[in-house]
Amino acid sequence: MQYTLPLMPFDRMASLHRRLLAVFGPPAEFVRLDPVSQMVLAMLSARTRSEAALNVFARLVEHFEVAKFRGSWTRLAEASFHEVDPLLEGITHPERKAVALPRALQEIASLSGGLDLGFLHGWSVDDALSWLERIYGVGPKTSTATLNMSTLRKRVLVVDTAHWRAARCLGLVPEQASPERSVRLLNRQLPDRWEASDTEEHHILMQDLGRAFCARNRNASCPFANVCAGKAAHRRTRLLEEWLRDAPPAEALPGAGAKMSQISPLKENIAILNQGAASVPPPAQGAPASAASC
Ligand code: SF4
Repeated sequence: MQYTLPLMPFDRMASLHRRLLAVFGPPAEFVRLDPVSQMVLAMLSARTRSEAALNVFARLVEHFEVAKFRGSWTRLAEASFHEVDPLLEGITHPERKAVALPRALQEIASLSGGLDLGFLHGWSVDDALSWLERIYGVGPKTSTATLNMSTLRKRVLVVDTAHWRAARCLGLVPEQASPERSVRLLNRQLPDRWEASDTEEHHILMQDLGRAFCARNRNASCPFANVCAGKAAHRRTRLLEEWLRDAPPAEALPGAGAKMSQISPLKENIAILNQGAASVPPPAQGAPASAASC
């Protein structure tokens, strides 16, 4: 599985990024969870609004006394379906996630020797993604979020539903591309010089576009309407490049730059949660996990 391939001839992602920055302003400084906590949050967030996922995450932290046990998710790993399921009220597919969360944590513990993903720090992005995506319930969105948005800070692009929707509209990926395939296609377009902070910022900006405009069908007022609104899908890639080269500078939206990080409300607990990274000997790089991802 290859996520990191050479850049495109025209650096359209970097150019698009500059326009998005001009419209939405720079995202607020990011608050980072340890990788296991970030993985839990990403699993909760699948097809769920951020606020709802955060509420449930905070509920799990409290119920399983994660902060009291210095960031350890051991009690969730050992919990039964009947204990977890009622705690997931408010997110999509609670029954599925009530099975997946404990099982994913159990698999991490049995494969790595502890409930800690810190050993992935020294791994390549491709190997770390492959390892994570063999864990039950972990797909490309969760694996990329775990690597990029946690304290691991790896250079990989996260693509959630809002981001995927905007990427399809703009012709960055084919109209029929699934979310899973889109993660891989978009990661192949990353400019060589981008670092983890750039991929993270780009994800948030594309998420802004998808949420504020595409999801609400606000095509008329969208700053990118010239590219995709009403245009045949196969023409969008070329239109986007032409527009990025030729269009006048974009104007900032009112309130641009005044955003909070998704997990800012948890800021006070972050230091405690992040103590969970215990020192366990890392498994050999590329060591296989047992269960298939879903
Ligand atoms: S024109 Fe419409 S579909 Fe295209 S990016 Fe804007 S809101 Fe999304």
